[in-house]
Amino acid sequence: MGRTLEIREQIRRGEVSVVGRVQQFIERIKKEDKKINSFIELNPQAIAEAERVEKKLRSGERVGRLAGLIVGVKSNINVKGLRATCASRTLEDYVAPYDAEVIKRIRQEDAVIIGMQNMDEFACGSSGETSAFGPTQNPAAPGRIPGGSSSGSAAAIAAGFCDLSLGTDTGGSIRNPSSHCGVVGIKPTYGLVPRQGLIDLGMSLDQIGPIAPDVEGAALLLEIIAGRTQNECVMLPVDRVEYLSRLNRGIKGMRIGTSSKFAELTDPKIMAVIDKALDKLRDLGAEIVEVELPNLEKAMPTYYLIVSVEFFSATRKYDGRKYGKRIEEVCGEEVLRRILRGAHISRREYRGKFYQRALQVRTLIREELMRALQHVDVLVGPTVPKLPHRLGDKLTPMEMYGYDYLTVPANLAGICGGVIKAGEVNGIPVGLQIQGKPLGELDVLRVMKAMEETA
Ligand code: GLN
Repeated sequence: MGRTLEIREQIRRGEVSVVGRVQQFIERIKKEDKKINSFIELNPQAIAEAERVEKKLRSGERVGRLAGLIVGVKSNINVKGLRATCASRTLEDYVAPYDAEVIKRIRQEDAVIIGMQNMDEFACGSSGETSAFGPTQNPAAPGRIPGGSSSGSAAAIAAGFCDLSLGTDTGGSIRNPSSHCGVVGIKPTYGLVPRQGLIDLGMSLDQIGPIAPDVEGAALLLEIIAGRTQNECVMLPVDRVEYLSRLNRGIKGMRIGTSSKFAELTDPKIMAVIDKALDKLRDLGAEIVEVELPNLEKAMPTYYLIVSVEFFSATRKYDGRKYGKRIEEVCGEEVLRRILRGAHISRREYRGKFYQRALQVRTLIREELMRALQHVDVLVGPTVPKLPHRLGDKLTPMEMYGYDYLTVPANLAGICGGVIKAGEVNGIPVGLQIQGKPLGELDVLRVMKAMEETA
């Protein structure tokens, strides 16, 4: 049993106090998070929530599957009474008036919400540096970026500030920081997890997903947030999923695809770690198969065209009337760049030139990945092509977008992808990315679990 499930057992048996743990976490965050900056706001109700769960436990009442576990939430998800700032001045005073669907679900399972986590402004970024509340540090590689945009969610797990985090992934924002911080993250298949209550970046790409210290923790949280809701029309016809009881099946006989294309885009030092991981998977009885991904590098520019158009459209409501501030007047450089790019691309005279073409290439990428996944159970390779840079280093926008080559394809195709630490380069964590078929989360998790056990 991994750490998360062990803690859950100890809580259930009454060996550790939920209130006591919440107090300890809050104290540690107050002291140590000055340096890391993974939280924007702590939940003033956290102790009261813990007391409620503790009372239930004491009285022998039935408790939920997350009973007493402490969850941090990325600041683009609505948690009633807390600020959903998206780490932007635009929404700095916005207090969420309701719980997002995923929040309702984790509350129902008796989780305790500890606070709202830092992120790149409006989830536009790959480094965690564009937050209006200051950059986040990488606890696993001091002095370096934690990755983004779910920077606070991954850093908080790496620093041990909460048991589980909810992040979001539009083009890699769960997987990229999970890789850099050496933690576990999953981007679910598009349409598996409700987006209701999530503040959009790119609505055809966004998914909420778990970040955790271990594979079981991620599987547990995903089991709880997955499944359709009545009031969301673009969801897949899945009511519930079951991963935890099937994680330990091993990977003997599994067909694992990989592509020589990955090495063309990735730092050789990272590739050396990934190649070793593939050897381990082979030793565990998987068959490693080469697949063709000839258009892989086209995914990044395609993603940036599409996300800019969708983001531009999503930001039109921040015109100052409802949320107080006009986004263009208070946002950071990268958010403004995307709004201007989105506005430009959306002009009618350019429609056929940029957006239409991007949608065509998106189809091509999706077909290519689906074809590859017909012959294998999962696709395995690196998560991020470069090591995280030092905080404060100045990168050009194109250099920043270069972090996303290997994560955006899954979002464009709507497939799932998980990340597990495979090793280190000079002490910096390197995550293995496992991409799966639509609704292939169980296969992805099984490979992640097998990899975890080799550590
Ligand atoms: N880094 C990508 C971007 O800047 C992905 C962000 C995300 O997944 N939210 O758009």
